[in-house]
Amino acid sequence: MLLFRQKELLKTYLNQARKTAKSVGFVPTMGALHQGHLSLIERSSADCELTVCSIFINPTQFNDPADLAKYPVTTEHDIMQLAESGADILFLPDQTEIYPEGLDYLPYYEFGYLEEILEGAYRPAHFQGVAQVMNRLLEMVQPDQLFMGQKDYQQCLIVKKLLEITERNTKLVICPTEREEDGLAMSSRNVRLNADARIRATLLHQNLLFIKKNLHTIPFPELYARCRENLFQEGFKVDYIAIAKADDLQLLNEAVDDKMIALVAAAIDEVRLIDNIMLN
Ligand code: AMP
Repeated sequence: MLLFRQKELLKTYLNQARKTAKSVGFVPTMGALHQGHLSLIERSSADCELTVCSIFINPTQFNDPADLAKYPVTTEHDIMQLAESGADILFLPDQTEIYPEGLDYLPYYEFGYLEEILEGAYRPAHFQGVAQVMNRLLEMVQPDQLFMGQKDYQQCLIVKKLLEITERNTKLVICPTEREEDGLAMSSRNVRLNADARIRATLLHQNLLFIKKNLHTIPFPELYARCRENLFQEGFKVDYIAIAKADDLQLLNEAVDDKMIALVAAAIDEVRLIDNIMLN
């Protein structure tokens, strides 16, 4: 695996490699890698000839400075894991490589409804930050395929829209959520859970399964109320629990024929977790 810290060197290398490599796959991450990230690398290296992974903790997508300060950094371990994975290239830039002109006056992207709801409502400007970094990384890597996790489903839809707005012909591949044995979605933030919170954190997935099981027997408002109560009783601060149309995240109060998704965001002991499942 090759490691690049400078975008110009990365671009030069990729321009040359593209002459022989049939396809370039890209897996952007913020590090503290776990099996969820590695599953994206595996998928990319199965589908593409060259797989680029990036690790960059993007400050512009953190609406809460405390969350940024506490974000886990395990770079040496990440590099070792990547070297054993199918990644061909690691891009590990510092902030000036990504934002040479500083963090003021960054571009604004028009995502409309998609950034007003759910994560967008609870994390102001978060998706603008995601788009700002993603557009820069895509510009540098110019991948044929971009691999992202369903765990951050709204982020996937935002990036899909970014690809449309910027008219890139990169194909977005949304990969399944990797889970711990008890159902908890793998996340870099899980390391911040203490032993007790870690046990209770599995309730997020359990409540999503409860929704899936009772989708056609319990009215949606009652499903929402029961899940909120379940989580509240176990010490969660619930931001949202919602069912939405999977293609555009229109929030629902009753079932529709289109594909539906249930999404949850809740904090336990100050650690905010998100999860979702497809319902049909
Ligand atoms: P992050 O490092 O949290 O920004 O995540 C980088 C990429 O890994 C994103 O596309 C995430 O959706 C994806 N990802 C994070 N957790 C998981 C998981 N448990 N399963 C699959 N993909 C994941």
